[in-house]
Amino acid sequence: MIDGHGRNINKLRLSVGESCNLSCVYCVDKIGGHQRSHDHLTVEEMIDLVRILKRHGGIEKVRITGGEPLLFPGIEQLIREIARLGIENIGLTTNAQQLKKRVDDLKNSGLQKINVSLDSLKPAVFRRLARGGRLERTCEGIEAAVKTGLQVKINTVVLKGENEEELNDILAYALFLKSEVRFLELMKMGPLYEKETALFVPMKTILAKIGKCYSYHPIPAETDSTAIRFRVPGGTFGIIANESNPFCATCSRLRLTSTGKLIGCLSQPVGIPIKHLLKAPQPEFELKSLLSQAIGYKRTVAFKGSQIGMSAIGG
Ligand code: SAM
Repeated sequence: MIDGHGRNINKLRLSVGESCNLSCVYCVDKIGGHQRSHDHLTVEEMIDLVRILKRHGGIEKVRITGGEPLLFPGIEQLIREIARLGIENIGLTTNAQQLKKRVDDLKNSGLQKINVSLDSLKPAVFRRLARGGRLERTCEGIEAAVKTGLQVKINTVVLKGENEEELNDILAYALFLKSEVRFLELMKMGPLYEKETALFVPMKTILAKIGKCYSYHPIPAETDSTAIRFRVPGGTFGIIANESNPFCATCSRLRLTSTGKLIGCLSQPVGIPIKHLLKAPQPEFELKSLLSQAIGYKRTVAFKGSQIGMSAIGG
């Protein structure tokens, strides 16, 4: 669907649930502090909603997220059925704590791309930021995914006084694996909404730190890419700079929560329910107006964050 600002909204982020085995400091305010909904869609309902959104809403690419998608029991079935709908571009975002043993099944189900969150290469910092988990499990997961031939990207949220001095080590690790790391500016989501945070590191500081070890220059990214990309000797990296350089003007993303609500923009205060479309004989009529509502929330300049946390929206 092309919106009033010429953006082709063709990417869906599908959250399969808020549950997570980690409790990252920027995502939730305490261990296990993830929002909990009780009216989750079943796998079949998710597949049917993706079918409707593909057929009548122009969705062409799907990224599965959460919460932690590898905790979702029907994940392989979900990927397989989404692939059967003719969606050729299926990705998943994970903390990779359980990835190593699952990666072959995920790939065989039709998964093509995987983004792994990795905020530190120091075990103690990793555990402090994630409030749990084990660094080596995430690294083993990343390395297993690279080995299977999946396209792997690493996501690192840059946090002042925590991992900001590790950026070149993380970049070197990604380059060694022939993977791309994207450094994320902290977003004011969930517990950080409307709060001052001392943890924020802007893109220019990130680049200054990279510049101490690498010569870099900007390279073109896809028009609707969230990341600004750079080439360094041996590969590339990206920065997702929601505050310094918002990608709103070209954002092509729509989000579907695990309770069947559409979210057009990360700043949208409440989701728009679409689960009832599953019972509609001709869902396309109402879908059009519901999609317009969700896309109407999409900002064009900069987003402000939301009290809905990332564990519910998925990213
Ligand atoms: N559990 C999966 C994972 O850890 O990758 C998927 C869900 S997680 C909510 C998706 C992405 O959102 C992760 O890469 C995480 O780092 C990012 N994220 C969560 N809260 C954020 C925030 N406040 N600012 C920037 N990125 C955030």
